[in-house]
Parts: sequence; structure tokens; C-alpha cells
Amino acid sequence: VECIDDVDMADQVLHRKNSHKSNVLSEWDIPPDQLEITELIGTGRFGPVYKGRWHGDVAVKMLDIDMSDEEQLQAFKTEVSQFKKTRHDYVVLFMGTYLKPPKLAIVTSLCRGMTLYTRVHQRGERFGMNKAIVLATQVAQGMGYLHAKGIIHKDLKSKNIFLENGKVVITDFALFSIMRLSRENRRPNVMVIPDGWLCYLAPELITALRVDSSGSSDRELPFSTTSDIYSFGTIWYELLAGCLPFHKELAESIIWRVGKGIKQPLTHLQASKDVKDVLMMCWNYNPEKRPEFTDIIKTLNRLPKKRGGLHRSPSHPLHLSRSAES
Ligand code: ATP
Repeated sequence: VECIDDVDMADQVLHRKNSHKSNVLSEWDIPPDQLEITELIGTGRFGPVYKGRWHGDVAVKMLDIDMSDEEQLQAFKTEVSQFKKTRHDYVVLFMGTYLKPPKLAIVTSLCRGMTLYTRVHQRGERFGMNKAIVLATQVAQGMGYLHAKGIIHKDLKSKNIFLENGKVVITDFALFSIMRLSRENRRPNVMVIPDGWLCYLAPELITALRVDSSGSSDRELPFSTTSDIYSFGTIWYELLAGCLPFHKELAESIIWRVGKGIKQPLTHLQASKDVKDVLMMCWNYNPEKRPEFTDIIKTLNRLPKKRGGLHRSPSHPLHLSRSAES
């Protein structure tokens, strides 16, 4: 009798464990009849994003994932379990998943304002040094938080940074792994390189891309916290220069240069050595020599602020230096 009781109990424990497993997502599921999808905001390389309503305005990111594919569903669940751990002022709020087969979506808070990309590259806005430092510090703080939570962004770029009332909001973190598995991206021997993406990719990723292009397109790229740091370097450059590094170069040329360790020259940048040094540290060819976000925040805080607004004060001349470019 004792034996049967034990088996019974073990069964119950197992059942509870399994039902807990299958419930991992359900606590974040938004009942489909409660979510109202209103209008299309835009379509990115991974699919459409809609404006919706669920206890207020939300953004609904539709994902093209084959629900019958266990591998894809598992990758989705793993990434989503990461999102729900996040809560930071500079990181978009994950609100839940929307599941109405065949539709699957991620629901986040709706970002107001424009992306850093739109502000800098489409509207041609230039931020003064003080503002650039503030924005970069906020990005570094949000990213440092994600890294502390064990999350690698993998797609940090100015299109994924919103500016909302002077505050940054980082979006689209960790979606890259999910979308790598999406139907569109699973075509064999096809490597889709979106415009403006390469300049955020660290040399070790670029090199892996080169290997990949002759073989399978489905291999995992070696993203890491240090490859996120490299991408941050590119954002710092955009804030300072108002353009993307290598913006006049063809994709093949960028891949060749970055793979060889050649960096965007900085001679045209009107900035001090300390400011350029942040770039060089983040863009270091050796991933292990790149700083962490905590170091970057300290360095940014030490940069001299200009008194009285955005323009250089004659009493605080900038050191112009090339030595930072080595
Ligand atoms: P890419 O495909 O190269 O990443 P993208 O960033 O434009 O480009 P998506 O991230 O899919 O692609 O975004 C599509 C549109 O939806 C963009 O206009 C983007 O700014 C907008 N968007 C994405 N997330 C949100 C959000 N949380 N709130 C408001 N708008 C958003």
C-alpha cells in the first residue's frame, strides 16, 4: 500500500511540474478577445507591428513562427521567459503574448515619440554634446540592466531606441533569436542583410556571417554581451557624427573592412580624445577588451559637460586629437 501511495504522490508531483511547465507562458497570455488591434504602425524585417488596445495603448509585434514546430515554439518560450523578468525605466515594458493560432504576437507598451534613427537620420537632428552624453548614458543604463539580467539584446541599433520626452526606451531585445527561426529566415543558403545593419555588427559576427554565406544560413551567430557593446559604440558614433559609420560603403566593403579590423576613421569628428576613446574601446577588435556598460557609464559621466547649453564655450575648448584612432 505504501508503495502505491508513493507512486501516486510521485505522479501528482510530476503532473504538477508538467502543468507548471506548460503554464510558463499562460500567465503572460493576453486573452485574444481582450486585445483590440487597431492600426498598422509599420513593418520591419521580422513582420508587422500594430497599435492595439489592452488596458490602454499597446504595441503588438506579430511573429511569423510555425506553431507546429516544437523547436521554434521552444525558442519562443525561452526568450519570452526572459522578457517577463525585465522592468526598467529605459527598457520597453513587456506586457504579454497574444496567441490566436495561427497568429502569435508579443505585446509591449506603446512607445510615443520617434526613434533615435528617425530623429538623427531622417530628420537630420544633431544633438549637442551634453544631450548626447545624457542619451548615451541612458542607453548604457538600460543595456547594463539587461546584461545584469542575463539578456543579450542582439539587435541594438538606433531604430530600436525610442526618445520619449527626453528619455530613451530600448525595444526589440532578444527577438533576434526567435526571428532567426521564422519562416522567412529559414530559406536555405539565403542571408538577408537589411540596410544599415552591418555597421552594428562586431567583427566576430561579421566573420561568422562570411562563413555562413557559403554554407547554411541557419547557424547561430556568436552574439554576446560584448557584441552588444560594439553596437553601443555605433550608437555613440551616430549621436556624435549624425550618420552611420561606413555609410557610403557597399555591404561587401563593410564586411571586408570590419572583418579585417578596420574602423570608421574619426578625423572628421569634432570631439575630444576622451569622447573618441569611448568609441575605440567599444569597437575594439578583441571582444574581451571591450568595456562593460558599468565602465562606459563611468567614462561618460567623466566627460566634460559644456556649460550653458549645447555649444562649445570658448573657455572650455575641446582637445582635438587623432591619437584615439589607433
Ligand atoms: P528592422 O526590421 O530593421 O528592425 P524596424 O525597427 O522599423 O526595422 P520593427 O521593429 O518591426 O522594424 O518596427 C516596425 C515599426 O513599428 C517601426 O516603425 C517601429 O518604430 C514601430 N514600433 C516597434 N515597436 C514599437 C513600440 N513598442 N511602440 C511603438 N512603435 C513601435
